[in-house]
Amino acid sequence: MIMRTPIQYLGFEYGNELYVKRDDLLPFSFGGNKARKAELFFDEIDKGKYDCIVTYGSSSSNHCRVVSNMACSRKLPCYIISPEEASDSTYNSQMMKMFDADVQIVPVDKVHETIEKVVGYLKEKGFRPYFIPGGGHGNIGTQAYVNCYEEIKEYEKTENICFDYIFQASGTGTTQAGLVCGQIMNRDKRLIVGISIARKNPRGREIVLESIREYLGDKEDIDKNVIFTDKYIGKGYGDSNTDETIDYVLRQYGLPLDSIYTGKAFCGMKQYLEENAVRDKKVLFIHTGGTPLFFDYLKRK
Ligand SMILES: *Cc1c(COP(=O)(O)O)cnc(C)c1O
Repeated sequence: MIMRTPIQYLGFEYGNELYVKRDDLLPFSFGGNKARKAELFFDEIDKGKYDCIVTYGSSSSNHCRVVSNMACSRKLPCYIISPEEASDSTYNSQMMKMFDADVQIVPVDKVHETIEKVVGYLKEKGFRPYFIPGGGHGNIGTQAYVNCYEEIKEYEKTENICFDYIFQASGTGTTQAGLVCGQIMNRDKRLIVGISIARKNPRGREIVLESIREYLGDKEDIDKNVIFTDKYIGKGYGDSNTDETIDYVLRQYGLPLDSIYTGKAFCGMKQYLEENAVRDKKVLFIHTGGTPLFFDYLKRK
């Protein structure tokens, strides 16, 4: 197994030895977990001789940026259905334009039927559209983070260390599901903590469990492996805790975080470690990317 992204030791921080897996450095379109997932989706697309892509996401979606970039580089038309409620211009949406994505903005409750309509219309015209679920959700996306988990195992073996905790931002929960599947398959004991950036419990956690069951089948030990906390959702941009964390981490470590995903998750991790009195452990934070969103944060500051 090749280590695709480095694991960086940040230092003794928040009472623990803190490491970061730099998935933000994956070498396509500013990287991030959406790049890791999209690569596997595009393997399918290339094999299946599809000739256009349909997907879904907001104007700040890292998924839509990466997917429209991959489509553009193959000269495949890319249709993005986007909710009007989250359609402010961002660096990601500007890049989607640069990649010639056809973005259709509709009210959020019309998204589903618009996707069906677009896919139906394309098929009628004789095209072979490939639909990628929002955020790269589904078994293919889960597989991407099973692969990431194997990279973490490889690092532990060569460096002779063992991470007690893994933290990451959870949105659709696919990233967390993949990591937990890796953990269950390896029978590892550590705690994997998903910091929810939007979804509330019990639904948020249930979706992670569903993704794991979809990938592994129904095993009995799944339930206890999923820690999904909605305590740190916060208010995103403008939340003083998140903003302070973003500024501190960039100043101290040169590591850019954003206010929608990684900044919230990092801040949530800090609070989780404090509240649960976690001390002197080895802690790994997965940097899931979203670097263009850091610049949106900076612009509004
Ligand atoms: C989408 C995204 C997440 C959430 O990933 P899921 O697999 O949907 O839970 C976290 N961080 C960043 C930067 C993202 O773009």
